[in-house]
Amino acid sequence: MSIHFLHDRGAVYPGFLDAHVHLTLIDPRRLPGGGIARVLDLGGSLPDGLRTSMPDLAYAHQFVTAPGGYPSRTGWAEPGWSCTVATAADAASAVDLQVAAGASVLKVMLNSVAGPVLSTEALAAVVDRAHALRLPVVAHTEGAGQADRAFAAGVDAFAHTPFSERLADDLVTAMATRMTWISTLDIHGWGSHTLAFEIASDNLRRFHAAGGMVLYGTDLGNGPLNLGVNHREIVALLGAGLTPDDILAALCSPTPLGLVLSDTRVTFIPGERPHDPGDFAGWLIAARALTRPELEVLA
Ligand SMILES: [Zn+2]
Repeated sequence: MSIHFLHDRGAVYPGFLDAHVHLTLIDPRRLPGGGIARVLDLGGSLPDGLRTSMPDLAYAHQFVTAPGGYPSRTGWAEPGWSCTVATAADAASAVDLQVAAGASVLKVMLNSVAGPVLSTEALAAVVDRAHALRLPVVAHTEGAGQADRAFAAGVDAFAHTPFSERLADDLVTAMATRMTWISTLDIHGWGSHTLAFEIASDNLRRFHAAGGMVLYGTDLGNGPLNLGVNHREIVALLGAGLTPDDILAALCSPTPLGLVLSDTRVTFIPGERPHDPGDFAGWLIAARALTRPELEVLA
């Protein structure tokens, strides 16, 4: 990739992005020290009073879901973190509430394993309203057929690489023409490779090979993940056929989902980038996100 520049002590890249985090479930002040300069917060509330030490961010605010739908009945999500849409008539006000709270991306939940999901009409109305307001729509899809439904409704991105079922080749190829997938492979087993991990890796391999846009994302806040670049996620992306250059592109997207984030920090990695792809993940996790004055100190 051409956008990095070499510093005499290491490599400097545009600030690394984790495109799937829940800041309220972690200590966001620790992310820059782990190499993450920018985040997309994909639902929940935002921690107060930490703005100066946080990564740069764009956020979704509430989870838009069906009444009784995921995650409103889970232990980890507070009731106020969800906004319910019963019918298409509720869609516009639900989307407008998120915009009023500062959201620049909309998060829709379609998890048929954990409860009811939006009807096709309600989903279409939510997507249409979001697009009318220029918000990209990111869907959590889980359960048979939900990824297909989201794509048909015009959803722009998946919060997770689809992991419930192997998607047909022609569907993956069609998705690759206009969708972005946020990777989150490591949440499936955190290193002990589960069936969901294998399904997601196979879907992502074909999506990437067909030219689909992939963003690095980990679902930080969900399970035992380190606060920074995740070594296992990088290894999983290599396993799904992304090259080290592809992975850097997935970390450095200048306008993820068309969003413009601030760029307070760059990401610095000490030492020379290894030539052997097998050494790439180990090198990458030494990354630190630094402001320009912090970078000057290293010079
Ligand atoms: Zn999540």
